[in-house]
Amino acid sequence: MSSLRFFNTLTGAVDEFEPSAPDGIVGFYACGPTVYDFAHIGNFRSFVFEDLLRRVLEVHGFRVKHVMNLTDVDDKTIAGAARENKPLEEYTARFIEAFNQDLGTLNCLLPHEQPRATRKIPLMLDLIARLIDRGMAYESGGSVYYRVAKFSDYGKLSKKKIEGNLAGASERVDADEYESKEQVSDFVLWKAAKEGEPFWPSPWGNGRPGWHIECSAMSMEGLGPTFDIHAGGEDLIFPHHENEIAQSEGATGLPFVKYWLHCKFLLVDGEKMSKSKGNFYTLRDLLAKGYDPMAIRCALLSTHYRAPLNFTLEGLKDAGEFIRKLDEAFWLCVSRCSNSEGRDDESAKDPLSAELSRIAAEIRAALGQDLNASAALALLLEGVKSINKTLGTDSNAPFSRKDVFQFFDEADAVFGFAVAADKQIPAEVSLLMRERDDVRRQVAADKKNQSLWQKSDELRRGIQAMGWMVKDGKPGEPSVLKRKRRAWDV
Ligand code: AMP
Ligand code: ZN
Repeated sequence: MSSLRFFNTLTGAVDEFEPSAPDGIVGFYACGPTVYDFAHIGNFRSFVFEDLLRRVLEVHGFRVKHVMNLTDVDDKTIAGAARENKPLEEYTARFIEAFNQDLGTLNCLLPHEQPRATRKIPLMLDLIARLIDRGMAYESGGSVYYRVAKFSDYGKLSKKKIEGNLAGASERVDADEYESKEQVSDFVLWKAAKEGEPFWPSPWGNGRPGWHIECSAMSMEGLGPTFDIHAGGEDLIFPHHENEIAQSEGATGLPFVKYWLHCKFLLVDGEKMSKSKGNFYTLRDLLAKGYDPMAIRCALLSTHYRAPLNFTLEGLKDAGEFIRKLDEAFWLCVSRCSNSEGRDDESAKDPLSAELSRIAAEIRAALGQDLNASAALALLLEGVKSINKTLGTDSNAPFSRKDVFQFFDEADAVFGFAVAADKQIPAEVSLLMRERDDVRRQVAADKKNQSLWQKSDELRRGIQAMGWMVKDGKPGEPSVLKRKRRAWDV
């Protein structure tokens, strides 16, 4: 298996991936959404990147434990619940469900654990108490703050210097926080309760956790004090991830995470897509406009994760075209398999099998080099072209059914386009198809026979009604069947 290398924000270099437990499980934590609304496709760029990362690790033979938190208490969720006059849990439940549905729609593997902040408060209280014991945190005015000056490694991830402008270390600096903190750079771990807001009891009075402490507590609960990979969007490097390191290493004295991976923003007209700018599409907006979810997934993957992705509907159409080509090549193979037996002889590879196995190895290698998805997608297209060249021009060309399906299965395993999820043509569809191929052979010999033309159209409509599409080849050649991707495909 080719090597696996990732750009590590912590070292600033592309590092060889060596898990902390060589034969064990790779611990992978991804910062999840704040569940106050539907996630937008900028958010999904990060989640699809993380899904690719997990798939590539798995294809390289690693067993991965994937934990993703849900931030279900913060200013925005609290404001949303107040607006709708609902308890916080009831308000966020809807967006948690929608988020997981959206992950499914984009064919992202669901995390193994999805802890919610509001259900893990005792863990956070415990972590804060340990930080106070070690002199790394202090209580002030019913809130608890992290004493940034006590953590000498502060800034090692973001490369920011503590002497510089670090007021941003706190996620949101309220006027009352300024008064209570020893230093501007200190950030809040526990926020004293405010009038009308949800709160939990703590040794320092009623309040709620800060955002950063959630992720330290929940990642270490699921993956232990030291784990392999932590990922998120580039906006999380500072202050969120910097603060997570300070909290976790400050409390345990152990290294927190070995590899930090961050994905650049999805942009609209050069600006970050975000709720506050109003320049966003949710996944649901795009589905309602008729875009294929796999085209959206493809568009999100098409630019390397460390380059900004400028999102346009034009780009989305191109991605749709890519998925269409891939899908057609797959169904060409399925149709050809049902015409002929294919060749399942492993000993003598036909040229197509040899070509596809070379391409599959190059795809693995490209993705292993810091997830070079754009190069990997170009290789996938090369595979599609080879298939079309061999099987599209000659319906009797020899090929190995096993090898072509292996190519599509491997591609699905890493790209997650689910093209080859179903390789079966139902018997009733095959039957109509064979009947139609017979009629078309007769048409080829007797082109003026109107009733034969009508019969062929009738059979096509029957096939379409069962959810399938027919693409005719040259006269007399068998046609190609393809499952409809969307209800309105014709
Ligand atoms: P949030 O729900 O704001 O906590 O964000 C969830 C995830 O989406 C985080 O990993 C963010 O870094 C990421 N994110 C937010 N906006 C964008 C964007 N425009 N492009 C890429 N990732 C984003
Ligand atoms: Zn986080």
